[in-house]
Amino acid sequence: MKAISVLGSTGSIGTQTLEIVDDFPERFRVVALSAGRNLDLLVRQIERYQPEAVALADPALLPELQQRLAALATETAAAPLPVLLAGPEGLCAVAAWASADLVVTGIVGCAGLLPTLAAIEAGKDLALANKETLIAAGPVVLPALKRSGSRLLPADSEHSAIFQCLQGTPWADSARLSTGIPTPGLRRIQLTASGGAFRDWAAADLVNATVADATSHPNWSMGRKITVDSATLMNKGLEVIEAHYLFGLDYDHIEIVIHPQSIIHSLVELADSSVLAQLGWPDMKLPILYCLSWPERLETPWRRLDLTEVGQLNFRAPDRAKYPCMELAYAAGRAGGTMPAVMNAANEQAVALFLEEQIHFLDIPKLIERTCDRHRQDLRPDPSLEDVLAVDAWARQAVVELSQQALQPTHR
Ligand code: NDP
Repeated sequence: MKAISVLGSTGSIGTQTLEIVDDFPERFRVVALSAGRNLDLLVRQIERYQPEAVALADPALLPELQQRLAALATETAAAPLPVLLAGPEGLCAVAAWASADLVVTGIVGCAGLLPTLAAIEAGKDLALANKETLIAAGPVVLPALKRSGSRLLPADSEHSAIFQCLQGTPWADSARLSTGIPTPGLRRIQLTASGGAFRDWAAADLVNATVADATSHPNWSMGRKITVDSATLMNKGLEVIEAHYLFGLDYDHIEIVIHPQSIIHSLVELADSSVLAQLGWPDMKLPILYCLSWPERLETPWRRLDLTEVGQLNFRAPDRAKYPCMELAYAAGRAGGTMPAVMNAANEQAVALFLEEQIHFLDIPKLIERTCDRHRQDLRPDPSLEDVLAVDAWARQAVVELSQQALQPTHR
């Protein structure tokens, strides 16, 4: 029975993780949960999973949660209430919860950084969905993993695919993950991309893109931020940096290929030119389950892949002019040091402004590029955690300021 702490339990990754726990009650149990603002769902989850500890991101919501749970306890004479925590310390406590064997990191954005580090320092294994943490703070996370011996298992479907493919090689060793040392025999990674919401739009039509357009993904059902990241292809750019840290390849050997069906989740090319791929329906439950069950494979009742039903698997090179975010991510990854943290924070802030309809879709890459340009002279090549947190805060502020200045009127 593996004990799991779920960070971001009310989100897309969190709820799918809990569905897996429902599917395998004899294998997994939930010991701790954390959420942002969705108290309705969190209360239902507490009722169902009876965790030992729960943390809320916002301490101001704690009294309401306490009230609701007290009312529930009176009504149902239910099991003992969990320890209730809040704020960054509360999230870190849930991440490092003593009885947890594995922590699923389903918080969105760099808000996941400190809890992830807390889990690593406590020696927990991690199912990493919260890619922003690794992108912003790879130079901090990698040494922390080495010190603690925690294993970072990739929940992102592309990186899970790569990890699964590498299980078929003599170097099948999770201890190699995120060491920064190149995986022996691995020559090239091809990350597949669905192409996101605007896959079939002409670049010229993007001036008409709305929030509703950008948040409807053709293949995957995910949170709003990652869905916009998919529409800009920043998500794939972030995944390039994630793959660099996880598998130790340089950026010239990590490529992106558009694959509209999202059936092949990524490919690895090995020393002898053989290419291995992992296939499946586009469903995040499979890569999350693999993190939970690794190195075992559990029998599932899930729909089996039928290639005759799929019919075709198509591939094309991404349009670099239509998706400038992709190139911005490669450039930030190659610059290294604090630049990926700046690029990531600029993206988070720009996407938040876009979702609030403060800026246009096409302003997102412009704001990221200008923020990265401003940071270039201050780049720290070997950043500490404090450096990462400082540039993250600086970049968010820079984006807000830049967005208030005149952006190109053609896209407003
Ligand atoms: P969602 O927006 O669906 O969920 C985010 C979760 O984080 C919610 O539980 C939310 O709480 C919580 N949260 C939000 N802000 C904060 C904060 N400041 N502090 C603490 N908790 C917070 O996101 P997803 O599940 O889609 O994505 C989560 C992560 O997983 C992202 O890093 C994403 O890139 C990655 N990922 C997601 C995939 C997917 O299929 N969804 C696929 C691959 C990777 P609440 O809702 O209660 O406010």
